Amino acid sequence: MSDKDQSPAIAITSCARKEALAQTLAVEVEARRDDLIDLTRDLIQIPTLNPPGDCYRDICDYLAKRLRNSGFTVELIRAHGTPGDCEQYPRWNVVARREGGAAGECVHFNSHIDVVDVGRGWTMDPFGGELKDGKIYGRGACDMKGGLAASIVAAEAFLAICPEFNGAIEISGTADEESGGFGGVAYLAQQGYFAPARVQHVIIPEPLNKDRICLGHRGVWWAEIETFGEIAHGSMPFLGDCAVRHMGAVVQEMEDSLFPALAQKRTDMPVVPEGAKQSTLNINSMHGGQAELPEGFTGLPSPVVPDSCRMVIDRRFLIEEDIDAVQEEVMQVLRSVEAKRDSFRYELTELHRVLPTMTQKTAPVVETVAKAIAQTLGKDAEYVVSPGTYDQKHIDRIGKLHNCIAYGPGILDLAHKPDEYVGVEDMIDSVNVMGRSLIDLLVQPEA
Ligand SMILES: [Zn+2]
Repeated sequence: MSDKDQSPAIAITSCARKEALAQTLAVEVEARRDDLIDLTRDLIQIPTLNPPGDCYRDICDYLAKRLRNSGFTVELIRAHGTPGDCEQYPRWNVVARREGGAAGECVHFNSHIDVVDVGRGWTMDPFGGELKDGKIYGRGACDMKGGLAASIVAAEAFLAICPEFNGAIEISGTADEESGGFGGVAYLAQQGYFAPARVQHVIIPEPLNKDRICLGHRGVWWAEIETFGEIAHGSMPFLGDCAVRHMGAVVQEMEDSLFPALAQKRTDMPVVPEGAKQSTLNINSMHGGQAELPEGFTGLPSPVVPDSCRMVIDRRFLIEEDIDAVQEEVMQVLRSVEAKRDSFRYELTELHRVLPTMTQKTAPVVETVAKAIAQTLGKDAEYVVSPGTYDQKHIDRIGKLHNCIAYGPGILDLAHKPDEYVGVEDMIDSVNVMGRSLIDLLVQPEA
């Protein structure tokens, strides 16, 4: 029954009831502050580095124990045969489900359990989970163990005040988001875990800031261009054909025609930061000729004309663009060079593609979380779209579940940086937003 069908009196009563529950929830959340901190620190202290995919089973076991204690039914699922999965580094995932007392919809919180390499420049212990001045430090603190902890505490606080809710709550911890998500969300989606018949609302607590809802992401097209030449002695380059010079012509053609054209394409998607509101292309790598000399080798290279040059490009495209047109633009660059250069030969190979995705602002999960942000923080939610992709792509494309957003605590700019942290106050606010969203979606108004 929609609000329009309700009499005004009932609508007011249900609002008042939900608001009263939200007030009780806030008290419940505050009482769990120390628990939230401890949980976040514990998760950071399990060094789930990817690559190679360390300690996935350890963190899944930790989460399984915690969620079983909170009344969830827990499954541990290994993504056999997915990239990187092996006996030494098995790709483990955990999916926990708690049914309510009556039929209703299922709200799923999905967090990735993996973290990226530590890198240099830390002043804190990357796996210490140290708490200092209201911030918890460590690799994965904001991306996204803080978000995972927040969703667990939100669900537990909700269950404490509404044990007999309608529908179900699911919490998953999934592998390999940082390396494409094939051993994580993609695998689970293939197994039906994100089928719309099972799950109706998905919130991914990536660190987008506590007042922002991330609706989706731009598309990705990676490709490798190889130019060919003819090997010859470096003292007589006229006897060969230099593949690197051919590639130089490709780059020049991109500078002259492609980059200016991409800069003209603007999207209506609310992509952040501002620079990513246009189409972009990164020349990811280029290599021509002999392999780099090994480190420590003190000899000289030998003189040869390179017969191959390879370049990897990373094109990020907008929801208004068609992927075939994106490829055609690059083909056009290559054909232009071909028309100008004798003996120009090339090969174009697609490496990876992800279509853009954007959940509508009118989708139920978006409206619910936006309302919860306004009520919790006293300000309107900001809608954003991510410049890069995340696991929503698999939920959208494989799961065919489009009612999905990213919402979670933490500052996106800190992700993957040294001294990454998540603020405790931000987490508390996000827990309240998530808990309010559960009240809104899973509590019967008439009860
Ligand atoms: Zn992340």
